[in-house]
Amino acid sequence: MSRTADSDLAHLFHPYTNLVKHPETGPLVITRGQGVRVYDEAGKDYIEGLAGLWCTALGWGEERLVEAAARQMRELPFYHLFSSRTHPPAVQLAEMLAAQVPIDDARVLFACSGSESNDTAIKLIWYRNNALGRPDKKKIIARERAYHGVTVATASLTGLVNNQRSFDVPIDRIFHTGCPHYWRYGEKGESEEQFATRRAEELEKLILAEGPDTVAAFFAEPVMGAGGVIVPPATYFAKIQAVLKKYDVLLVADEVITGFGRTGNMFGCDTFGIRPDMMTVAKGLSSGYLPISALIVSGEVFGPIAEEAGRIGVFGHGFTYGGHPVSAAVAVETLKIYAERDILGHVAKVGPVLQRGLAALQQHPLVGEARGVGLIGAVELVADKDSRTAFDPKLAVGPRVVAKAQAHGVILRAMGDAVAFAPPLIISEAEILDMLGRFRRALDEAHGELV
Ligand code: PLP
Repeated sequence: MSRTADSDLAHLFHPYTNLVKHPETGPLVITRGQGVRVYDEAGKDYIEGLAGLWCTALGWGEERLVEAAARQMRELPFYHLFSSRTHPPAVQLAEMLAAQVPIDDARVLFACSGSESNDTAIKLIWYRNNALGRPDKKKIIARERAYHGVTVATASLTGLVNNQRSFDVPIDRIFHTGCPHYWRYGEKGESEEQFATRRAEELEKLILAEGPDTVAAFFAEPVMGAGGVIVPPATYFAKIQAVLKKYDVLLVADEVITGFGRTGNMFGCDTFGIRPDMMTVAKGLSSGYLPISALIVSGEVFGPIAEEAGRIGVFGHGFTYGGHPVSAAVAVETLKIYAERDILGHVAKVGPVLQRGLAALQQHPLVGEARGVGLIGAVELVADKDSRTAFDPKLAVGPRVVAKAQAHGVILRAMGDAVAFAPPLIISEAEILDMLGRFRRALDEAHGELV
């Protein structure tokens, strides 16, 4: 094992890792990247099929982002936005975001991660309802299999067992409604539209059971990411939004993965006809080159918050590094590159290549469902295709296939037995076909072992 790997085992505490198995398997040491590929310390190259953590939209080695960071480092490496201070990169980025989001009179509050921005959204929802004299309207609804982060409050919103078990979350006032995965949860004979109606009716029932005067907001990823890449069924968001409107419940769109072209439009909200009151973005905002996130709220959301801050004397919230000038400068450059290189046009061109390739995998004996939109997708591996029976989790079929794909030079991510694809948005058609070809070899090998 290399010196780096040895030292890793001795000193690093790894997130999202089996901490007992890690010393046995050892780390994968990645040392550099170029385009859609990363390289390990032995020089082996991998197509990064998940753009790191769904974030490195422009791929590795984008010199313009390096230059933007270096320029800003020299000019003003740190300043903050507290106490009416400001700086040009944060202002420019806020202006660019406000112009692009489907939110009226948008205001932008920066932080450093998706979790922080979603956590901030919860605080603002509570703050605002106190300001409006509605101290009981505080409950928040998310969905089973949602992923909104890992802080105490956002891990509570997240609807995945491993983010909650033994962590003493969820906190109170957080509720979950059904996951909109038609293939898995749709009933026999039920159409997509009927399934969407059922999910919307369930949401309405939950709001009525809790009392509309106590329910403040609903969080949703336009396409659920870490829950397994769940694309909503037709008519789902129209029906959900009608229920929310009826009971004066705010809609928070978590665009941390879906923002900036991933689904083929600038935002997942554009793809699915969502008009949110609040939106969170991160990841693609800086192409993952530096940590930055934003919570964007409508003028209607902002107004009462501003008044409350006026009454109290200060808006008592903010992160030291929120809107960091170097991160903001890199994000500004990232958004410029998306526009100049017509990244949406590119996704429109190559997205169908990925989706067709995934759909073709549906013929494979291990694949129960292939799903996706734009440049995000997944295949769900099943023990029996007809009955859609899942594998025994102990077999860890998803991780097994992902390990084999890695041996073939493709890095992917298993979420249970769903294997996710979200490559850098700059990926070419040839690279998509290469990635899928390697993945198919991994599938064949795993199938050979399982039968
Ligand atoms: N929301 C979504 C949809 C995410 O996918 C993630 C991270 O993967 C988060 C929030 C949390 O972001 P972070 O890891 O930057 O805290």
